[in-house]
Amino acid sequence: MVLHDIEGQPRAIALLEAGLRAGRLHHAYLFTGPAGVGKEQAARAFAQALLCGERPGGCGSCSTCRRVEKEIHPDVLWLRGGEEEGESSREIRVQRIRDLCAALQLVPIEAPRKVALLLGAERMNAAAQNALLKTLEEPPPRTILILVSEGDEAILSTIRSRCLRVSFGPLPQELLARQLEREGIAPEEARLRASLSRGDGGLARALDAAGLARRSGLTSRLLSIASNAGGEAATLDALGLAEELADREVALAALRDAALVWRDLLVLGGGGGRELIVGRDVVAALERAAPRLPPARVLRGLAAFRTAIGAIEGNGSPRLQLEAALLRLAEAA
Ligand SMILES: [Zn+2]
Repeated sequence: MVLHDIEGQPRAIALLEAGLRAGRLHHAYLFTGPAGVGKEQAARAFAQALLCGERPGGCGSCSTCRRVEKEIHPDVLWLRGGEEEGESSREIRVQRIRDLCAALQLVPIEAPRKVALLLGAERMNAAAQNALLKTLEEPPPRTILILVSEGDEAILSTIRSRCLRVSFGPLPQELLARQLEREGIAPEEARLRASLSRGDGGLARALDAAGLARRSGLTSRLLSIASNAGGEAATLDALGLAEELADREVALAALRDAALVWRDLLVLGGGGGRELIVGRDVVAALERAAPRLPPARVLRGLAAFRTAIGAIEGNGSPRLQLEAALLRLAEAA
């Protein structure tokens, strides 16, 4: 797939193509954004474009492009986080980065330049990042490094500042639904997963039967807390739930789900029909709860979820933020 054919990321692709056309290339790039939205595909296609002698944006069919695609081109180095034996899935060890940097020092074998792709760059530990920083500070001539990362909070600012940042956003939901269908998911479920994940391809693919069941369980508990607000049971439920969900990523996912559910409640409370509901998997529970929850209370809950999401993203304590939001839900009107 050539750069031009990458779907759903027009801004990122235009930025890369403009640089190629003008011959303005950077020593290092940081492709950042959610999982499953085309970052790795784009990095592969960009590597083709950097090496292809046939067409400026890469032709996709010459021997160079085909070998880059298959990851067997001698001048393209690949490093994926979490794939080496003994390495935890959360970590890239320093030795692998040192090996990569040493390989980058060697002159290209057949192409005009060497390209290194570092996938899952957010998994580099501190020592690995510091090793990489040395290479970024004095990049070997004729080399280009592409870091691909889910979000860039885990990447040192000294590394970020030496890379051209290329941001990838969530995919348009119709496009993501079509991709899921191509992967064998039934059309209705594909649409549901695309809308529940708000275009995050990684989340959509993780929303399998177990993921949907977890979501529906969480929805019932939240609705029960809100429906029984003012009672002691609701307060205890709120505290218990906050404790269960206290892991940062779990908390963020739950709060984002909760915000979607509350948005649906607002739609229903305002007289909106089923077709406007995002959470079509939990629509029956929503319709039962909506008449008992006045819009002002739903709005208050929604604001509490959004505040908690913002605070946790800004490094607030997941447990405390969850408690604050869920207790707000459990408060009497
Ligand atoms: Zn080519």
